[in-house]
Amino acid sequence: MAFTTVSELLRIGKDGDMALGHPETPHLTFAGLRKLAAKTIADLNAMGIGRDDRVAIVLPNGPEMAAAFLCVAGAATTAPLNPAYRQEEFEFYIADLKAKAVLVQKGDETPARAAAAKLGVPLIELTPTRDAGAGSYTLSSLLKGTAAQPGPAQADDIALILHTSGTTSRPKIVPLAQANICASARHIGKTLALTPGDKCLNIMPLFHIHGLIAAVLSSLGAGGGTVCTPGFNALKFFGWLDEVKPSWYTAVPTMHQAILARADRNKESLARASLRFIRSSSASLPPQVMLELEAAFGCPVIESYGMTEAAHQMASNPLPPAARKPGSVGIAAGPEVAIMDEEGNLLPKGALGEIVIRGPSVTKGYEANPDANLKAFAGGWFRTGDQGTLDDEGYVRITGRLKELINRGGEKVSPLEVDEVIMDHPAVAQVVTFAMPHDKLGEDVAAAIVLREGQATTEREIRDFAAKRLADFKVPRRVVILAEIPKGATGKLQRIGLADKLGL
Ligand code: AMP
Repeated sequence: MAFTTVSELLRIGKDGDMALGHPETPHLTFAGLRKLAAKTIADLNAMGIGRDDRVAIVLPNGPEMAAAFLCVAGAATTAPLNPAYRQEEFEFYIADLKAKAVLVQKGDETPARAAAAKLGVPLIELTPTRDAGAGSYTLSSLLKGTAAQPGPAQADDIALILHTSGTTSRPKIVPLAQANICASARHIGKTLALTPGDKCLNIMPLFHIHGLIAAVLSSLGAGGGTVCTPGFNALKFFGWLDEVKPSWYTAVPTMHQAILARADRNKESLARASLRFIRSSSASLPPQVMLELEAAFGCPVIESYGMTEAAHQMASNPLPPAARKPGSVGIAAGPEVAIMDEEGNLLPKGALGEIVIRGPSVTKGYEANPDANLKAFAGGWFRTGDQGTLDDEGYVRITGRLKELINRGGEKVSPLEVDEVIMDHPAVAQVVTFAMPHDKLGEDVAAAIVLREGQATTEREIRDFAAKRLADFKVPRRVVILAEIPKGATGKLQRIGLADKLGL
């Protein structure tokens, strides 16, 4: 069915079927979820929040986060934020997205509370009511008002706002319409042949497009369910497999590797598991890992290519009997995919260039950022910033990134954001944050600094300094202190290739 809003999507599943689950809690049926969604629309409207009003969501990973995303999206615009952010990061994001309210869990002492208070943005508190089914909750707030646009959100309304990490500027706002995310959910459902009989085990964080769309929205859009864990935990994964008996899961390559590392110790659980397939996305999956995973689980591993601006899926390897090609991210799977040169010409198969996309899941453009949009769109195509080729059969191979974003096993880090924080250290005259190769993560964060004259500091001190203002995953693992930072041919500091030059 061609649903174009989250409210329509939630009507697909059968009343008594599981929509959301949790490993230790009774599940929530589609009938239950639909009731919760209707109640959420009414509650938010009574707080003065309606269509196109933005609600920042700061919730721990789990079924309530999934339910809140789905139900708040029924009424307003959701903006899920990483709960690991520090206060300063919350202040930036809550202000930047002009949130009308911040949704937090009752009793959760997140720094988002102080950030919201400082900005004068009201809180809405969510109290889980798991006895009523995984993901059930009640909302409370001091907010009262009349929504300017009450009732269910429409296809063109923005359902989801995420920030992408800026490379040369501050993080950009990616608005995704109800129709964009619904199209992506349909594309993923089709690629994976999802049905009401499928059950996803969600281990992905739900502030990232991958978890929100590939694990949650695509499952529910196919009438199937998702069991939401508190977040990835390699020690608990096999226990969850046994309890939940999922038909699939989706993850980033580092999670697959952590799972593989424990496969030997969990042979019985593996033998009992009957996954239809495993999905991998958001960072490149080494072909060795793909083959090992397939051997361990006895099912196909489907590598897909996703991006926030495309509401996630752009290309995917197909299910058997069609061929999946290790090292390739598969064929166009939703948007059209092509290769473009710098001048904006589309290139023939085999040629190397920038991967470009267009289609119903792609954002209309960054918010309030004409410069970025000018660079990002060419002749109706969106430039992904990834470099690659298409083979004769239309399989996409990613060969590199034109953008400087650090991809830490799927977690994206903007080097500029780290630079800005480290520059505030009194001993630092110059800093360049860059990607350093890492055997499991693919890339990790490193920084090179030049000290001010007469100043001294240590690697440790800089890392501790950065950790006060940056979430752990953004803190450089290595900080090298140099007399001078190597420059590229044009005299510009070059992040790309710096690790090589420094022998890291
Ligand atoms: P995000 O917007 O956080 O989902 O990140 C999107 C970026 O992740 C893409 O533009 C790629 O650079 C990278 N990416 C996603 N999927 C893959 C994949 N299967 N292989 C390599 N890189 C990927």
